[in-house]
Amino acid sequence: MKENDIRPAELMAGQAERHAADIRRMLARRAEFVEVDCPACGGGRRELAFVKHDLRFQACKDCETIYESPRPTPSVLAKLYAESENYAYWANHIFPASEEVRRNEIFKPRAARVAAICDSQGVRGGTLLEVGSGFGTFCEEARRLGRFERVIAVEPTPDCAAKCRQRGLDVIEKPVEQIDPASLTANVVASFEVIEHLFSPRDFIRSCHRVLVPGGLLVLSCPNVKGFDVALLRELSSTVDTEHLNLFHPRSLGQLLDRNGFEVLEVSTPGKLDAELVRKEVVAGRFSLEGRPLLQHLLMDEWERWGNPFQDFLVENGLSSHMWIVARRKAGSVED
Ligand SMILES: [Zn+2]
Repeated sequence: MKENDIRPAELMAGQAERHAADIRRMLARRAEFVEVDCPACGGGRRELAFVKHDLRFQACKDCETIYESPRPTPSVLAKLYAESENYAYWANHIFPASEEVRRNEIFKPRAARVAAICDSQGVRGGTLLEVGSGFGTFCEEARRLGRFERVIAVEPTPDCAAKCRQRGLDVIEKPVEQIDPASLTANVVASFEVIEHLFSPRDFIRSCHRVLVPGGLLVLSCPNVKGFDVALLRELSSTVDTEHLNLFHPRSLGQLLDRNGFEVLEVSTPGKLDAELVRKEVVAGRFSLEGRPLLQHLLMDEWERWGNPFQDFLVENGLSSHMWIVARRKAGSVED
């Protein structure tokens, strides 16, 4: 998979303008932002990691999660997403133009991976809930596997929920935090690239806990702030984005799950793009590998030879900046 396949360059130019407009809209509401403690461990000891687009990203001194604080409140966030030009552009232009590539490169492998996780953990049948389904491509692929009795899309954004319904999916058009567990239980909850956007990851995880049956599986993916391209590029990395309020790493997200009623079963970093993203910044003249001869060799001088093996090395050793974490819901409720 190459970046240009899933983010076609000519369309991404239009996206950049919309993204900039979204950032301006977000900054205009800065008076309403609030300070928060670390979203992973709750600790208040921190130092400024970096500033991007005038927003402050803090590094937790206890668990090394990086997080935006001050940050928009949940109601401001909801409004920003509802008014987002960037998401409208994705929905109307980028996604339709790249969906089939995305289906083959991202969503089919994602569904197969979830199936393999269920196999290895002995979870059969039952209900799969995807939280943050977008256009519903993953749910379609999960349904196609035929291994779950029900596949349900949880998608609070009206346009996306409508798209999921057009595809014949079961849709719950509200945030997972508002689902009544008396009305629905799940055997598997999956959520991809969602938790980094949320005001309170802890509330989100607790909501997943409430809808899961004891022994049920939670499968999450999100950026890994200790991964190669983020660790190297820092605020230059596209992972460090105004909307990414929470930048966890495997241990910090694992601890958050552990404290909120889950047992962590597996962590992996199957990201494919780290080496390519760093190389792109170097080629564009925005980042220098001066003083890093080994990286200069791997990513520039001998790219054709080493690009893929180097990325494979990152993936196999937990060093890619895209991570998956699988956890099992423990019995009992979670105390406050
Ligand atoms: Zn922390």
